[in-house]
Amino acid sequence: MINRGYYDGFGGAYLPEILVATFDDLEDKFIKAKNDPSFWKEYTDIMSTYSCRPTPVTFAENLTNHFNGARIYIKREDLNHTGAHKANNVMGQGLLVKRMGKTRVIAETGAGQHGVATATMAAKFGFKCTIYMGEVDVQRQRPNVFWMDRLGAEVIPVREGTRILKDAINEAFRDWVSNMDTTHYVLGTACGPHPFPEMVSYFQSIIGKEARKQMLETVGGLPSRIYACVGGGSNALGIFKGFLDDPVELVGVEAGGRGLDSGLHASRLSSKDASIGVAQGYKTYFLQDSDGQMKKTHSVAAGLDYVGVSPILAYLKESGRVRFESATDREVIDAMSLTIKKEGLVPALESAHAFAQAFKEAPKLSKKDIILINQSGRGDKDIFTIADAFDDPGWKEFIKKKAEEYNA
Ligand SMILES: *Cc1c(COP(=O)(O)O)cnc(C)c1O
Repeated sequence: MINRGYYDGFGGAYLPEILVATFDDLEDKFIKAKNDPSFWKEYTDIMSTYSCRPTPVTFAENLTNHFNGARIYIKREDLNHTGAHKANNVMGQGLLVKRMGKTRVIAETGAGQHGVATATMAAKFGFKCTIYMGEVDVQRQRPNVFWMDRLGAEVIPVREGTRILKDAINEAFRDWVSNMDTTHYVLGTACGPHPFPEMVSYFQSIIGKEARKQMLETVGGLPSRIYACVGGGSNALGIFKGFLDDPVELVGVEAGGRGLDSGLHASRLSSKDASIGVAQGYKTYFLQDSDGQMKKTHSVAAGLDYVGVSPILAYLKESGRVRFESATDREVIDAMSLTIKKEGLVPALESAHAFAQAFKEAPKLSKKDIILINQSGRGDKDIFTIADAFDDPGWKEFIKKKAEEYNA
């Protein structure tokens, strides 16, 4: 399937000349690590002592009874250190940085979660760390900036362009070009030029490897369907990779935002609004206009509103192996409410997209069917965003009082 990072025409590495040697070196070191059994062992060791792996699979008995259809299981990536599957990727790349003998890491971040995860990894491994973040996002995501500061990372607000994620990515590449000898760029999802999609999904594949074994051990069989939310695609590929050769239906759920007809969404593979193009160094489906200008995206979940998508998922869509759906902001908030009340679990708004789609389908399946939902992260760390999404009056009152205290 893979030929220098091409997945049936998607992917590749469209790079400025100056970065080619760095990418070649990265690919070389990655392949060597991958072929060295001690590397995966080192990786699983640190993930079990630092990040709660293996994460459990939980039987959602109350939700199962509520929908009276398929039996619902949940893979608990929310229990990772820093609260999401992002830890899998950053810790894996961190180990690779050690092998490469580099001393500094940089990363882009939109909502700030990948920035916090990277800064955490850098603190643990003793790397210098710089995080690029659009100025607009710095203002919107103060709690994450607060933690990056505490973790000793330098957060650089990007004032170019529209001052959001894509501008932060451009700045991170600019930094990398000037500091290639000492610095590694920790890309946050299964996108970007080769070898990033392959490498990030390799580290995330720990999710699917564990989940497959856990289902066989605890349920005695494989699920009939698996649901995962899709931003860049790393948590989805992580769980899907464990089941690609099995008779299991794989469902990726994108941000439907205000609805596919509204134009305010981030559905690249489940709507007709995206088209194939090359941007940010790789080829995939982008939400772009006929001139190749990127469109505005919208989602209640900051981690899902990206204009591109993993080239590996684009390939898996075209080949028919993965089905893509979307869930609207409203459906997501309802699914989240229900999950909190019925199971005492608090999925991240991103993860709640997978729950929403699973809830649409579970009642139509038989009681013999088993479905597995990937809970990519936990929501309680995003209380500011979630309280807004729920439009909670008590919370607003609390924030007002706090502001008055500061003004006094
Ligand atoms: C970042 C994030 C996502 C989206 O990223 P993918 O690469 O698509 O997995 C999904 N869920 C959570 C909890 C996240 O933090």
